[in-house]
Amino acid sequence: MVVVGGGIVGCAVAYFLSERGRNVTVVEPVAIAAAASGKAGGFLARSWGDGGPTQELHRRGWDLHAELAERLSLASYRRIPVYSVEREGLGGGGPAPAWVSGPETSSRPLDLEGGAQVSPLELTTRLFEASGARLVKGAVRGLEFADDGDDRTFPRCVGVHVRAGSGAEKTLIEASEVVVCAGPWSTLLADWLSDAGVSGTRNLPITGIKSTHVTFKPPTDLPGGPALDPAALFCSTDKHGCTLEVYPRPDGSVYLCGIGGSDYVDDICRLREGGDCGSADLVTQDPTRVAAAVASFARLAPGASDSVAGEPDSVGACMRPCPPDAKPILGRVAGVEGLSVATGTNCWGILASPTRGRRRCQPSSSSSCRLSLFFIALVHRIDTPPNRHTALLSPSGGLLSGKSWPSS
Ligand SMILES: Cc1cc2nc3c(=O)[nH]c(=O)nc-3n(C[C@H](O)[C@H](O)[C@H](O)COP(=O)(O)OP(=O)(O)OC[C@H]3O[C@@H](n4cnc5c(N)ncnc54)[C@H](O)[C@@H]3O)c2cc1C
Repeated sequence: MVVVGGGIVGCAVAYFLSERGRNVTVVEPVAIAAAASGKAGGFLARSWGDGGPTQELHRRGWDLHAELAERLSLASYRRIPVYSVEREGLGGGGPAPAWVSGPETSSRPLDLEGGAQVSPLELTTRLFEASGARLVKGAVRGLEFADDGDDRTFPRCVGVHVRAGSGAEKTLIEASEVVVCAGPWSTLLADWLSDAGVSGTRNLPITGIKSTHVTFKPPTDLPGGPALDPAALFCSTDKHGCTLEVYPRPDGSVYLCGIGGSDYVDDICRLREGGDCGSADLVTQDPTRVAAAVASFARLAPGASDSVAGEPDSVGACMRPCPPDAKPILGRVAGVEGLSVATGTNCWGILASPTRGRRRCQPSSSSSCRLSLFFIALVHRIDTPPNRHTALLSPSGGLLSGKSWPSS
């Protein structure tokens, strides 16, 4: 089988396929976990999907993470308390954690039982390594279909055309089945089908929501130890336009996202070869948002920001693959044999992908894991799901913001 894309979805699919004894090749143009799956926050919440269509996905995903952390010996997985932080206005210090000491800041416990974290880079890399899959470095640029004459009702996908770099010749990798797990780039499937002469339009309704993140250095006096008490912080919007999510990590680094300035990449031309987001290594950060994040964190946690140093250790940007209603997409492509897609995990891809990878690899008699792309437009209504996301629709149809916590 060929898996297109070495993000967490692709690597989870490869891992669970290999458990079933399948021979898997992963095709990836940049590196394993080069995109959002190596750059995300890695926050996991057990019950933040409760009452919505993704409740089971969240809950099973949360349980599966604990299991995988043990099986894969992950150093970065741990349970953490979660706090909500009100910026600028309420005054006074909150109950915890102690390092949130900025003026006009108050915090309250949000979820003390059902929070955890993992390094997305470590998890995705370990899933790939443990799968034993073959890695082919290159980008899929087309699909191969069998010449079955009139014997079949539907065209049968039997491989992918891969190009290792611009100008290089395409090579064919044959496959009994192809699974497209290319995050926001999965929308290129429409091009590949149309280039192969497969009739009918099968556009994936996904916006790549591009945002910047920063990571501060671990303090030098605490090698390998936690610099800050373990916690995840979800902050209200501040005067820098940041709605910070703060994740101190077990290696002592501090990861910040939610720093504003998201770019809605929903024009497929931007994702094609030659486009400004044509591959993961072209997705670059916004320096104005880096400066805003540094200022925002310094105000939130003055003591901690001194200890982690003023300048970030690393900055980057990546895109989360978001359907209009933020519901994941998993299933076989209608009217085509041997072709499936798994994407659309939005801001919960690290949490949900292992579960989705496992479901994708269950026997094909499991009809529950089949979702025909033909029906995607019907299943994925553009509406505001209760409880799960803030889901404010932008004029371009993308989601304006990501995680929101349960209202109770
Ligand atoms: C700032 C940020 C913070 C986040 N924080 C969290 C969090 O705390 N918790 C959580 O659960 N989720 C989080 N997410 C969401 C999560 O990161 C994503 O949902 C998830 O990583 C998507 O995984 P993926 O495998 O579908 O896509 P990706 O990680 O985008 O991987 C797709 C891969 O496909 C490859 N590819 C592209 N084109 C081709 C081609 N033509 N041929 C072959 N391969 C190709 C790419 O190079 C890439 O490696 C966050 C996202 C962002 C942006």
